[in-house]
Amino acid sequence: MAATFATEMPMKALVYRGPGFKALEQRPTPILQAPDDAIVKVTKTTICGTDLHILKGDVPSCTPGRILGHEGVGVVQAVGAACTNFKPGDRVLISCITSCGKCDYCRRGMYSHCRTGGWILGNAIDGTQAEYVRIPHADTSLYRLPDGADEEALVMLSDILPTGFECGVLNGKVENPGITLAIVGAGPIGLATLLTAQFFSPAKIIMIDLDDNRLQVAKKLGASDTINSAKEDAQARVMALTDGLGADAVVEAVGIPATFELCQDLVAPGGTIANVGVHGKKVDLHLERLWAHNISITTRLVDTATTNILLKAVASRKLNPTVLITHRFTLDAILDAYDTFGRAAETKALKVIISPDT
Ligand code: ZN
Ligand code: ZN
Repeated sequence: MAATFATEMPMKALVYRGPGFKALEQRPTPILQAPDDAIVKVTKTTICGTDLHILKGDVPSCTPGRILGHEGVGVVQAVGAACTNFKPGDRVLISCITSCGKCDYCRRGMYSHCRTGGWILGNAIDGTQAEYVRIPHADTSLYRLPDGADEEALVMLSDILPTGFECGVLNGKVENPGITLAIVGAGPIGLATLLTAQFFSPAKIIMIDLDDNRLQVAKKLGASDTINSAKEDAQARVMALTDGLGADAVVEAVGIPATFELCQDLVAPGGTIANVGVHGKKVDLHLERLWAHNISITTRLVDTATTNILLKAVASRKLNPTVLITHRFTLDAILDAYDTFGRAAETKALKVIISPDT
């Protein structure tokens, strides 16, 4: 079903203005550009650690003038003639990954490398920290919200839960029963890894961070052991907890050289280091020690190939992502939201919800 949607009405949007600069601005409401586009009225969005990377200037594909944001839920306002899965009025989850569903990478389930999509929202095209957003390849980049779904919970499914599950849990082979899992980094992505690891049955889940508050949250959410690596020797503690072997799966959920090097100290022979962190600097690889340890190192950009499974897990209450939400703001107050999220150690922020409507 086709519908046209064009308006002269300006909308509010958070715009990247070059490294260190951002502003809440008036922008034209987006219009359909391609037959498989949809326009979505954003009802809830959030800020990601990746947005802070962009603001530091770490992501050159995101140029000044770009509306940020790659997560959110909303209501379809208009669809192009080639969009057949959705119609105006449908409540939808916006995936951080845009996928055509037809190219060679999409046919392999590697949507993150879609030849006309991938991570483009709030990066190469305007994103979700606005009143409206244009979603290309809408049929394969949006998901219908289950009836009665908690919208705030589902915002966690745009990016962080599939990222923790695919890049951390699945790549780390956490499905093998009785393994020991160590997660380095207890931010939103590390905690999303902790939550989704419990679909399986690791014998121990050891959470490592510098922030006692985040470690307390991790303990509440199912970590068996927590280590503050600023106060104690993380390697010695992990060895003591694992009969001197190390962890079978080590998830890197920070993205700096020190934490990736720590993962190499923690991994057991035969184990896996599953990298999730966004790295901006080169890292040493200690092959002089690890060459004989039968380990694997995996990297991945989230494919969001598991979004449907995670939607069902939330609907059936096997997974409760609302525990990651700490603050709520209106779109008018989004600069305060960035400030709160950016000073997480003081504000204890994990995920912040931003509602354009209120
Ligand atoms: Zn993100
Ligand atoms: Zn594709």
